[in-house]
Amino acid sequence: MINKFKKIVIKIGSNSIVDQKTRKIKSKWLNELCDDISKIHKTKKIAVVCSGAIALGSKSISKNNLRKLEDKQAAASIGQIELAHQWRDKLKKYKIGVSQILLTLEDSEIRRRYLNAKNTISSLHEKNIIPIINENDTVATEEIRYGDNDKLAARVAQMIEADLLVLLSDVDGLYENNPKKTKNPKKINEVYKINKKIENIANNQTSELGSGGIMTKIIAAKICMGNGCTTIITNSNKKNPITSINIYNSTIFHSLVSSHSSKKKWLLNHLNPSGSLKIDDGASIAIIKNKSLLPAGIIGINGKFKRGDVITIVKKNNSKIAIGISAYDVNDIKKIMGKKTKEINKILGFEGRDEVIHKDNLVKFYE
Ligand code: GLU
Repeated sequence: MINKFKKIVIKIGSNSIVDQKTRKIKSKWLNELCDDISKIHKTKKIAVVCSGAIALGSKSISKNNLRKLEDKQAAASIGQIELAHQWRDKLKKYKIGVSQILLTLEDSEIRRRYLNAKNTISSLHEKNIIPIINENDTVATEEIRYGDNDKLAARVAQMIEADLLVLLSDVDGLYENNPKKTKNPKKINEVYKINKKIENIANNQTSELGSGGIMTKIIAAKICMGNGCTTIITNSNKKNPITSINIYNSTIFHSLVSSHSSKKKWLLNHLNPSGSLKIDDGASIAIIKNKSLLPAGIIGINGKFKRGDVITIVKKNNSKIAIGISAYDVNDIKKIMGKKTKEINKILGFEGRDEVIHKDNLVKFYE
């Protein structure tokens, strides 16, 4: 079933990767998962969001479950090293390289940082390296944390425009009644819309080691569904946890929009662009033909904005033609406007992008 997807975020819960009793890595399970990942690695771009740092590190801090935030942060700083090593060692067997990325909430909510993280992951993907991502628990305080990796994984999926998010869990999917407390619970195989009924189902099915429950998974699915990304909840505890996914061993939340249109929607619906660029006729024609905006065509500039901010593009007669994400901040554009792309490096003294707004980050208004 996963054949048709091209960019996949796999989220692994603490319960799946860490033994609840011993608080050690489930090594055999991870071997099998890595084997499964190796089967799809060549044809798909994969990012892993992996929990377990706190659970793994907690045994070095206390015999009991940790309550205090600072203890959890300390545990995460211990456990994260082990987590990263495990992934590196296990995927090495398949000659698959890994990297570690630790994110805080601001990395997905502030555009510039969002863009940075996105570019980093895309660069890793170009080199076929799998990023292993977790929340930067060691510095994340209550106010600025995702709190659970389901939401983090959904934000990552949105960030990298993944078309599939797989939430590996300790349940097969979404049930009408709590599968751990009910005999013959009824599983929901497919969801097209998250309505009140679905939200009500998400009762208190939290797991012991991780932070997520069914509710956080539904929130994650909701984020993805609005952004062209299908979400699958499935049990981690089966042979070939990824490649064996089918409608019977999972719940699929179908996305009704394509990722392309969701990005355009995001841009078109942007409420407060930080500034605008006025462009000449040549650049207007280029934009109508779906080309990028180069510095040469810019004849005016307005507002205060930074790299990564959303800005509008206006024609000579001030009519709005497009909206996009700027690759430069306002001061740099002032220096390079009207100039040739090849002059950028010399003028700015650093190697910037050729385009002020790349066509992938640009939407025309009349589209
Ligand atoms: N970031 C946490 C960890 O690595 C897990 C959060 C969660 O369970 O969702 O331990």
